[in-house]
Amino acid sequence: MKLSPITAPAEPDDLLIRMHNQVGAAVDVTGTPGSSYWACHGCGHGYSSIDHHVDTSRARANDHAAGCRAAYHRLDR
Ligand SMILES: [Zn+2]
Repeated sequence: MKLSPITAPAEPDDLLIRMHNQVGAAVDVTGTPGSSYWACHGCGHGYSSIDHHVDTSRARANDHAAGCRAAYHRLDR
């Protein structure tokens, strides 16, 4: 299995939580505790314009990380 080359991308200033998917790609929850969003560095999935409480973003990011096997993407988002 190929592990992700982006296990430790640069940490944004508003990074709240960093998780890792099944191949080690970072899945970040960023924003503030009251207005956060998540994004997967492995496959590019996530929400960058929808505000959620960090509890919601944490749960969704964790669910995604548990199933995502993408190591890297070149999608322009
Ligand atoms: Zn993913």
